[in-house]
Amino acid sequence: MQNNSSVVTVVGGGLAGCEAAYQLAKAGYNVYLYDMKPTKKSPAHHADTLCEIVCSNSLKSNLLSTASGVLKKELEILDSIVLKTAQACAVPAGSALAVDRELFTQKMDKIIKNNPKIHFFNKEIAEIPNGDVIIATGPLTSNVLAQTLHAYLGETPLSFYDASAPIVTEESLLPAHYFTTDRYQKGESDYINCPLTKEEYENFVQELTHAQRVQLHAFETADVFEGCMPIEIMADRGTESLRFGPMRPVGLIDPKTNKRPYAVLQLRKEHATGGCYNLVGCQTNLTFPEQKRVFSLIPALKQAEFVKYGVMHRNTFICAPKVLQNDFSLKKNPSIFIAGQLSGVEGYMESTMSGLIAALGMVAHKKNLPWKPISEYTITGALISYLTKASQENFQPMNANFGILPALENAQKNKNERKLQYAERAIRAMQQWREEQTWL
Ligand SMILES: Cc1cc2nc3c(=O)[nH]c(=O)nc-3n(C[C@H](O)[C@H](O)[C@H](O)COP(=O)(O)OP(=O)(O)OC[C@H]3O[C@@H](n4cnc5c(N)ncnc54)[C@H](O)[C@@H]3O)c2cc1C
Repeated sequence: MQNNSSVVTVVGGGLAGCEAAYQLAKAGYNVYLYDMKPTKKSPAHHADTLCEIVCSNSLKSNLLSTASGVLKKELEILDSIVLKTAQACAVPAGSALAVDRELFTQKMDKIIKNNPKIHFFNKEIAEIPNGDVIIATGPLTSNVLAQTLHAYLGETPLSFYDASAPIVTEESLLPAHYFTTDRYQKGESDYINCPLTKEEYENFVQELTHAQRVQLHAFETADVFEGCMPIEIMADRGTESLRFGPMRPVGLIDPKTNKRPYAVLQLRKEHATGGCYNLVGCQTNLTFPEQKRVFSLIPALKQAEFVKYGVMHRNTFICAPKVLQNDFSLKKNPSIFIAGQLSGVEGYMESTMSGLIAALGMVAHKKNLPWKPISEYTITGALISYLTKASQENFQPMNANFGILPALENAQKNKNERKLQYAERAIRAMQQWREEQTWL
C-alpha cells in the first residue's frame, strides 16, 4: 500500500485528467486514475482509449495573433504533454493545429498507461474519493457523479446545460450607433444599447428566422431549451416577439434623437476587467458563421469581433466564481480540485490548461507551499481570473480570447500588431511565472 501523502486520485481520463495525471507523475506522485471508459461511455465518446477528442479534430490556431495560439505557447512553457502529443500527431491544417484523432488518443493512452507512476482503474466513480483528488469528468460527467457533486456543492453550483449568448469586444463596436444608459436610468449606465429602426429590426428578424441552425445530438434534444429559449425560436413566434422580449425599447431614450428607438439590443459587460460584452437575451443555436452574419446586421455590431459564439448544448459545469479558488481547488475543501470543462472553461486546449494548472496547484498543496496566482496578462491567468471573479449569476463557461485580458498600455493602432503586443506580454508573464516556481 502506498503512503497516502504520495498519492493523488484523478477522476476522468480525458484531456484535463490525462494532463493532470502526467504532471503529477512527473512531479513524483503516484496517481490513481479512474475512467469509466471503456466499460461505460458517454454519448459523445466512442474510443476505448483515454484522452479522446470528441468532436472537431482542430485544436484551433497556432498563430500568436490569436488567443488560442498564445494559450498553446503558454502550455508549451509549462510542458504540456497533451499539446506535445497533439503536435506529434498533427495533420496539415494551415495555421491551425489539427490532429489525427485516432493516433492522438492511442498515443496518449500509451503514455498514460505505460507510466509506472500512473495506476489506471476502469471504473465509474459515484462518490468523491477521499484524500487529494482532481475531478475532471468533463461536460458529460456521468449522472451519478453529477448528482453527488450537486449535493456536495450545495444549492446552485452545477449546471447541466450551456445556453449562452455571443460575446463581442467593446473596441469592435461602432460608438456612432450605440448609447450607454440603464433602462429607466436606474443603475450606473452599465449597458451599451444598440438601437434599430423599424426597417433594420424587421430585416434582422427575417434573417434570424431563416438562418442555419446547429443540429443537436440525440442526447441533447430532450430539455436543452428548457427555461432558456434561443432567440431564433422566440423570433419564429412572430415579428414583434423580440420587441416585447429581449429587444424591447421601453425605458430607453436615444440621446441622439431624444426618442425611444423602435427596438434595442442591450449589451452587458461580461466581467469586471477586459472589454467583453454579452448580447443580452441572445442565447442561440445558430451556426457560428450565421451568428456573425446575422448579429452584424445590427448597426453597432457591423464590425463586431466575436470572442465567443453562443452555444446550446449538454454541458456539466460548476459555478466556478462561487466555489473555485485560483488553483482550481474548491473553497469548501482545498484537497478537492476540479479541472477540465467541468471547471467552467470551454475548449480542448482550455480543458488541458486547467488540468495542468490543477496538477501544479495540487503539487503546491501537497508540499504546503503558497500558490502564486498566474498573471492575468496570460491567457491562462485571465481565464482563471474569469472563472473565479465573474458574476455568479448566470455564469457561463469561457474559452481563450483576447477580450478577457487587461487592456494594454501603449496599445498599437494596428489590430494585428496590437494582438502581437498581447501575445508578447502574455508569453513574458508566463515565462516569468514559470521561472519563479523553483519547486517545479
Ligand atoms: C459533444 C461535444 C462536442 C465538443 N466539441 C468541441 C470542439 O469541437 N472543440 C473544442 O475545443 N471543444 C469541444 N467540446 C468541449 C470540450 O473541449 C471537450 O468536451 C473536452 O474533451 C473536455 O475535456 P475534459 O477533460 O474536461 O473532458 P473529457 O475529455 O470529456 O473527459 C472526461 C472523462 O471523464 C470520464 N468520466 C465521466 N464521468 C465519469 C465518472 N463518473 N467516473 C469515471 N469517469 C468518468 C469520461 O469517460 C471521459 O473520459 C465539445 C464537448 C462536447 C460535449
